Amino acid sequence: MQLKIFISLLLLSLVACTPSDPYQDRKFQQQFYVFGTLVGITLWDESPEKAEKAAQTLVQTFQEYHQQWHSWQADSQLTALNQAIAAGESWQVHDSLISPLTVMAQHFYQTSDGFFNPAIGQLVGLWGFHADELPTGPLPSEKQIAKLLAAKPKMTDIQVKGHVISANNPAVQLDFGAFAKGYALDLIIEKLKSMGIKNAIVNAGGNLKAIGKAGDRPWMIGIRHPSPTEKVGVIAAIPVETEMSVVTSGNYERYREFEGSRYSHIIDPNTGWPVKGVSSVTVVDESATLADAASTALMVAGLQDWHRIARQMGVKYVMLIDGSHTVHVNPKMARLAEFQRRNLPDAVVSKPLE
Ligand code: ADP
Ligand code: MG
Repeated sequence: MQLKIFISLLLLSLVACTPSDPYQDRKFQQQFYVFGTLVGITLWDESPEKAEKAAQTLVQTFQEYHQQWHSWQADSQLTALNQAIAAGESWQVHDSLISPLTVMAQHFYQTSDGFFNPAIGQLVGLWGFHADELPTGPLPSEKQIAKLLAAKPKMTDIQVKGHVISANNPAVQLDFGAFAKGYALDLIIEKLKSMGIKNAIVNAGGNLKAIGKAGDRPWMIGIRHPSPTEKVGVIAAIPVETEMSVVTSGNYERYREFEGSRYSHIIDPNTGWPVKGVSSVTVVDESATLADAASTALMVAGLQDWHRIARQMGVKYVMLIDGSHTVHVNPKMARLAEFQRRNLPDAVVSKPLE
């Protein structure tokens, strides 16, 4: 893994320094693969020494976090906790992010009316998403799904008391895939700020958080068009010139296909089935943790409930792209997003969120 990271670093830093880039001298850009996630950093006007140190911090921190909360890796701390829960035992937290993640997950479970439910790890695994490769073959049976649903795993089954976590439902299996990357972004940006870095973008698997600016201009963060056949690629860009994150949850990267239909890796905890009818949801917020939790929750809430859940979760900017690629935005997001002129989508502006 170390060697793979080193090679990716070499290759990608070469790509980042193409001679046609007019900002090459002021911009530092590196990308790495950490446990299958593409992680990147872009800095503006930093010394090469500081920039290298920042890139190292990013990779090391991400590796460390991944080892803690990986959802299916045998030696992760989260796997150990899940084994304890399944056995009806409590788990002692050692210097770990699992405990704050659990507490925050309980909060988002409540504010999302249970659409965000990281206790449904068994369902996510049943659908085949506890693996690096995309699942193939027949879907799980109705019987298997019904059995897991009947056990009602939920975040309110869990108790966090000081350094001890326990659950009164052995069907709970925690899976923090829906917001751990966002939390990592918040923590890493804090580390960069404490190193004195003022202008940066960190990218964790397509979820971004920025501070400062790109020189005298705002950072521009693209929102990907959910259609794989769409040539333009980016549907809109978000200008960022203060601390802000842009997080997208979509059905276009991790999914399974069977008999011509596509099944997303985001599962509706009420039905046990992958969500339908929404291609992607982007949330912009200062907190990447909130933006990540909310973008997943709103995918599940869907066209009918996204507005109410966004309000409850305290989100201010939402862009939901439905199954027919109509864009739904709240008025603030409509003002913030810069749509590509050549690629103006059908858009519906909702009532304000605030
Ligand atoms: P990505 O990781 O691709 O950015 P998300 O942030 O939307 O996408 O997270 C999706 C992951 O969240 C799934 O792979 C699964 O691990 C987990 N998950 C799926 N459904 C739910 C749900 N209803 N609530 C909480 N977590 C979920
Ligand atoms: Mg998410």
